[in-house]
Amino acid sequence: MSTNSLNVPRLWCAADAGVGHAACLVARVLLAAACALGGAGGPAAAQPASATPSAAPPAPAEPGACQALVERLAAFKPVDCSRLALQAGNGRSARGRPILMRDFGAPGTADGAALPPDPAAAKLTLASGAANASATAPSDTRPIPAPAPAGTLRKPRVLLVGGIHGDELTATVTVLRWADWLARDAAAGRALPIHWRVVPAMNPDGLLARPATRVNANGVDLNRNFPTPGWEPKARQWWEGTARKDPRRFPGRAAASEPETRWLLAEMERFAPDVIVSVHAPFGLLDYDGPKPQNLSPPRKLGRLYLDQIGVYPGSLGNYGGVHRGIAVLTIELPHALELPNDLELARMWTDLQRWIAEYMQRSAAAQAAAGAASHPAR
Ligand SMILES: [Zn+2]
Repeated sequence: MSTNSLNVPRLWCAADAGVGHAACLVARVLLAAACALGGAGGPAAAQPASATPSAAPPAPAEPGACQALVERLAAFKPVDCSRLALQAGNGRSARGRPILMRDFGAPGTADGAALPPDPAAAKLTLASGAANASATAPSDTRPIPAPAPAGTLRKPRVLLVGGIHGDELTATVTVLRWADWLARDAAAGRALPIHWRVVPAMNPDGLLARPATRVNANGVDLNRNFPTPGWEPKARQWWEGTARKDPRRFPGRAAASEPETRWLLAEMERFAPDVIVSVHAPFGLLDYDGPKPQNLSPPRKLGRLYLDQIGVYPGSLGNYGGVHRGIAVLTIELPHALELPNDLELARMWTDLQRWIAEYMQRSAAAQAAAGAASHPAR
């Protein structure tokens, strides 16, 4: 990749401590993938996104709604709502509460510039970067993957969702914390290598109830309400049989009966994410549904959480998005619903997550390029 191929200032790794370094490190990993895919003078990397990116929804900030989250989560270190600048999209809960969200790193915005030129980055490994980022050292120190065949690279789109289950408070706090780190990077003028769409509290009615509830205000487990094939009768059969009519796991009277579910389905259409990350608690593991391009494994671990696939359920987001729609859906189950991992652990998870996304995108692009070459053999 030529240093002239993109006209972006080298702001990435300005001296900074903590999370900024992690973002920088991940940017370099993504850049390395970009260079590998684009090749020398990489035209692919210099091209605009191949698919029309979804712009941030034009919606007013919701300081009151964010503040309600902060007050509900008062047991945790507060987040700065003004910096987060969460927005109310068109999503509303069953009780009419806004489902807050924000985009970071969207193409065409200040924090969404293309990947910067830095030929040295192609040779970097996370191991070398970790020496400069002790506070956020990734726990995965393998070298970056070998260069892949040329293919189309565009900015990864990742939908990051917390709190589908309202009583898993740490899930929302974790997403808020990661969003705050993104907001800091954006405020500092650092271009972000991933286009994030962040939804910290997917089930605001459940979160804000006293006590908080897993289900939404209609008593529906949103993570059993997605329209997986055969939802009727599988979801009800699962609930009546395996779940023994546990009201916390009621899948609803029909697939996508709930406004929160319908909104996320529409958001999946609008945003067309490459990866969906859904944060839960308290099982302390990682689960994955979706493609495995070039035999790429799901992330073996994020921080101290290890992969332990727990199976699929009728109506779950992983089943719908990963199995049915073929989108990579990573489910993070934090170890406790009320005790947050410490900042170092959150940073390790965050870095490992972005590293895996970079690898996933690289392998996906390479697999697509190989498929294209196979379907159009040289004459
Ligand atoms: Zn959950």
